[in-house]
Amino acid sequence: MFADLHLHTNFSDGTYTPEELAGHAIRLRFKAVALTDHDTMEGCPRMAAACQAGGVEFIPASELTTEHAGHELHMLGYFLDAKNEKLTTDLARFQEVRRNRIYEMVEKLNQLRIPLKVEAVFKLANCDSPGRPHVARALVQERLCGSLDEAFERFLKKGKPAWVPKFKISSAEAIALIHQAGGLAVLAHPGLNHTDEVIPDLVAAGMDGIECFHTKHSTSMTQRYLEIADKHRLLVTGGSDCHGMSKGKPLIGGIKVPYECVERLRERVMKRAVESGVMLADDAIVNRKS
Ligand code: AMP
Ligand code: FE
Ligand code: FE
Ligand code: ZN
Repeated sequence: MFADLHLHTNFSDGTYTPEELAGHAIRLRFKAVALTDHDTMEGCPRMAAACQAGGVEFIPASELTTEHAGHELHMLGYFLDAKNEKLTTDLARFQEVRRNRIYEMVEKLNQLRIPLKVEAVFKLANCDSPGRPHVARALVQERLCGSLDEAFERFLKKGKPAWVPKFKISSAEAIALIHQAGGLAVLAHPGLNHTDEVIPDLVAAGMDGIECFHTKHSTSMTQRYLEIADKHRLLVTGGSDCHGMSKGKPLIGGIKVPYECVERLRERVMKRAVESGVMLADDAIVNRKS
């Protein structure tokens, strides 16, 4: 009995539709999955329906782009109430920032005499939460770059000529936002940040867990984060961070988190709901088999 708690669809920078992604989860016999699109929950209703039809438990979630002490940190929110007023308002604001950033990046590319049209990016992205991967794909599609890697290396990586900094909420604000929407806050892929020293600050801000299992974590990294989780009494999560196909096969299936992790999350979110009086949304725990 396994879970994958980090997945993206084409509602952010993944390539699968919610139904295609749910299809993989069903085929791989996952017991539970969470959809963690960047700064949006737009894909959750469709993913929930497709998972429910295939007997897979679904956790509505999102991966928020945040900043702490000058570092970009991704904060996962699980069991979020998609109808929460503040969450809805703030996600809409983050999405507007993302769209404005696309205009700025395309403008910079045009100044570099790369004739990419902003319409090409938005047509390809076709979602409320566009990002750099969509710009990269549009550059490849328009034959202005040979590959996605080239697009990032030449133009889009931090410090490269078409890179534009993005407004981000603080990690502490993100934790509070997630909590007031009934959710649990979990630090995504800490091994990619190289900033373990920030973890105590995040724990002090009320963070609930860390993602120990991740496609890009080595065995020793996973071990280190399991120890850190133990030390700070943090919940343990994990997922593939699947954005679609990778090296000829879907990334989903590469990371299988023990289902006990989901049970611990659920216990914590229930306890929090009772303590805080914040009601869990009806659909926060879809297709739960108790
Ligand atoms: P954004 O949120 O617009 O800054 O884009 C960040 C996303 O771009 C990440 O979630 C990754 O999916 C993707 N990404 C970041 N760096 C690279 C890279 N070097 N090559 C390919 N994809 C990348
Ligand atoms: Fe991404
Ligand atoms: Fe991330
Ligand atoms: Zn992700």
